[in-house]
Amino acid sequence: MKERETTEAVRGRMADRGIRFTGGRQAIIRALQITSGPQSAAELHRRLRGLVPLSSLYRSLAVMSEAGILAMHHSNGLARYELAEWLAGHHHHLVCLQCGSVDDFELAPRQEKELFALVAKVGGHHRYEVSNHALEVQGLCRSCR
Ligand SMILES: [Zn+2]
Ligand SMILES: [Zn+2]
Repeated sequence: MKERETTEAVRGRMADRGIRFTGGRQAIIRALQITSGPQSAAELHRRLRGLVPLSSLYRSLAVMSEAGILAMHHSNGLARYELAEWLAGHHHHLVCLQCGSVDDFELAPRQEKELFALVAKVGGHHRYEVSNHALEVQGLCRSCR
């Protein structure tokens, strides 16, 4: 989705839920659009140069997660947020176990299909109805290795 489309989709979801799309929340959405990988509250706070006070940043992240606009990920004991898949598209994460950086990556359609088949097989084995999957590759990033 393009930036403007994403903003409008978020605006629509917020309106449906009766949540105010304040200037601060718009700034959070914009910041998440231009960065790769989930961001912690502290990272976002730095990125927004204090434009949104930390307390209201935490509150907004919780409210927008609740509304399904943001997805929260836990890695290395830290909560990080990014746009939910219906906004950002299906993708996976690379997590550095040393510095804690988290990066997005997409599989080629053929690889994604293979992964999907494997996941469906595992699900079937456990009589599980699979709706989605998340893949987290852990290791050392380029600057830590
Ligand atoms: Zn991501
Ligand atoms: Zn690293």
